[in-house]
Amino acid sequence: MVTDGHNHTKHFSPDAGQSIEELCVSAEQLGLKRLAVTEHYDADFPDTSLNWVFDIEEYKEAFPMWQTANPSVELLMGVEFGYQTHLAGLIDELCLKAPFDVILLSNHLIRGEDIYVSRLCYEIPRRERFAEYVGTLAEMTERCSNFDVVAHYDYINRYGTDDDRRVSYDDCPAEFDRFLEALVTKEKALEINTKSIQKLAQKNASDIMPDPKILKRYMDMGGKLITLGSDAHIPDGVGIYFNETAEYLKSLGITETVYYKGHKPYPEAL
Ligand SMILES: [Zn+2]
Ligand SMILES: [Zn+2]
Repeated sequence: MVTDGHNHTKHFSPDAGQSIEELCVSAEQLGLKRLAVTEHYDADFPDTSLNWVFDIEEYKEAFPMWQTANPSVELLMGVEFGYQTHLAGLIDELCLKAPFDVILLSNHLIRGEDIYVSRLCYEIPRRERFAEYVGTLAEMTERCSNFDVVAHYDYINRYGTDDDRRVSYDDCPAEFDRFLEALVTKEKALEINTKSIQKLAQKNASDIMPDPKILKRYMDMGGKLITLGSDAHIPDGVGIYFNETAEYLKSLGITETVYYKGHKPYPEAL
């Protein structure tokens, strides 16, 4: 695998600490040949101390210059739209505002609170919290159409404090079925987010890899589109846990992932 399908830079993502040059140098050192840059666009985000939306026109102008200045890596122009129920229409409109190669859709909130900083959300009992989060992913996948990939379905377990941290299929099978069904019906991809794996590893979780039941269920339903993304915000983040994840996916019988260019999925052997 030579593509990292989920990365941020400080030029357009307010929480990223790396320049495009730093990102490309790190990727090159790891032998990654292709990077999707997927800057944050979180309209109406509760944390107003940072600017979570950017000027798409400015991004469109900057991107060809980045490509020319960093010829060693193929740069794919992407974006990560943050979902909230009232934003479905807006997101579908924004998807058409630029010739994006790849559009990630994600959910960073629960009950309007930022999962990264909120403590309130962790007071919701574990299963209820997971069911609500995955239920929102299902709604998001059903209601939005112009995206390509659902990013970090497991974001809800990144910053939790439960002993049993990893979100599993058995925590909320009905919500997972609804979510995976929508993905398969709409031919959208499921991202394996390796930063989520890293976060579980840092907390010494017993299971750090994605629950195999989720992946098997997706494949049993006919799902074929899996992407790999590190969600790198700093140079050390790019390609994190890629080798371990590739071995893990192969052990489940998954032999290829996809990357998107011009909204078209291209297979890549693991
Ligand atoms: Zn995200
Ligand atoms: Zn991201």
